[in-house]
Amino acid sequence: MANIKFFSGEKTPLEMHKVRIIQKLSLPPVEARAIAMEEAGFNTFLLRNRDVYLDMLTDSGVNAMSDQQQAAMMIADDSYAGSETFFKLAAKVEELFGFQHFLPCHQGRAAENMIASTFIQPGKVALMNFHFTTAKAHVTRLGGKVEELVTKEGTKTTSTHPFKGNIDLDALRESITRLGKQVAFLRIEVGTNLIGGQPVSLQNMREATAIAREHGIVTVMDASLLQDNLYFIKTREEAEKGKSIREITREISDLFDIIYFSARKLGFARGGGMMIRDEAMFDSMKVMLPLFEGFLTYGGMSVREMEAIVVGLDESMDEDIIAHGPMMTEYMCEELLKNGVPVVTPPGGLGCHINAREFLSHVPAEQYPAGALAAAVYIAGGVRGMERGTLSEEREPDGSEHVAEMELLRMALPRRVFTHSQVRYAIDRITWLHRNRHLIGGLEFIEEPPVLRFFLGRLRAKGDWQNQIVAQFRKDFGDSL
Ligand SMILES: *Cc1c(COP(=O)(O)O)cnc(C)c1O
Repeated sequence: MANIKFFSGEKTPLEMHKVRIIQKLSLPPVEARAIAMEEAGFNTFLLRNRDVYLDMLTDSGVNAMSDQQQAAMMIADDSYAGSETFFKLAAKVEELFGFQHFLPCHQGRAAENMIASTFIQPGKVALMNFHFTTAKAHVTRLGGKVEELVTKEGTKTTSTHPFKGNIDLDALRESITRLGKQVAFLRIEVGTNLIGGQPVSLQNMREATAIAREHGIVTVMDASLLQDNLYFIKTREEAEKGKSIREITREISDLFDIIYFSARKLGFARGGGMMIRDEAMFDSMKVMLPLFEGFLTYGGMSVREMEAIVVGLDESMDEDIIAHGPMMTEYMCEELLKNGVPVVTPPGGLGCHINAREFLSHVPAEQYPAGALAAAVYIAGGVRGMERGTLSEEREPDGSEHVAEMELLRMALPRRVFTHSQVRYAIDRITWLHRNRHLIGGLEFIEEPPVLRFFLGRLRAKGDWQNQIVAQFRKDFGDSL
């Protein structure tokens, strides 16, 4: 993704890597896809991978590894305690982020569990730019509450604001004044997942953490999506353009007391970790590690994954590498927009987000438009996305639906995985579906789990709209898969 222009003037995301290991894919015919969707309870989480052509469910744990990462995995130091691989990882963390204390853990939510267990009791409030499903669930599990302070621009689906993940600083001051000692910590999700992978500016982080520091409030960064956010700071924030990715990383890190991440996203691997600045705080938190995760020098991770993270973190400092995801996302969003499909703008990180509320304006919120659209996109193209809307919310205590602020279908673009023609195929099928959107109806639950229902819940179509999509597909595409 270096600065390479096309003679034609075409704006094409150009890969600065080549494919050296491949996985064969298959695409079942549309009739089989409709049956697979019914069997999966209209929940894309419950599909079998063998029935999926392009898996755009998530960017978590499915990013492609580099040759350097694979090579590093061969020399991992396997040991329960004292593994050299751990010390290599801790040294890399200190080099890039400047933290001396590091706790490895099995994935991002494990860090969230330890942070919530340390700071949350009933009545406490965690301030956040925006929640993430697991981050919020750990706070509420312990009787705490979450307050979201993202700027108004953040939850507008259509915008030109370059940093929609920013915190509203006046709202932050107001919350701190009103809540006083009830504030447990300030958590900034750097790269805001649920509103479309939207970034936070370095300036906003400086100001928000300064306000927190004035009031003695612990500052936490969720760095799971930091990689994309670094690219956006470098390319969208005028004052930071002259700095290297490493310099920006270090400047961000210096603002926080705790940084945690899911290595399923940051570092192109699997696992996670948490950095803690204060030694006493570190000592009080590390006792949880052997209880929930594993010994201090592996934390539930395979040492091979830890070797891969060491290399992956270094690769995340390379602008050519981190540009790939955001540029593919931008391409997909812009092409869909040209075809009249409503997507979240400006394009963010991690994938293209389709505005299901507008796409399926005839489907009521209580019938889960984004869930229905996810099912329809799979039937139309064998492409699996993820519902990020009302279905992903918990019900209100009285059992009524909590209608989500944004009703999105996320088509994630795992980093370094898909080719340009595969993304074009997804654009084509989504565009076709948009022309035929009147065919798509709503969903209703047949099995609804009480927590995080979107993972395991089963639903059915209201009517038999899945079969109408199949019939229209045959009419328009003939014998095509
Ligand atoms: C994925 C994610 C997490 C949770 O990480 P896991 O490794 O899936 O447990 C937390 N925060 C953000 C912003 C994420 O994207």
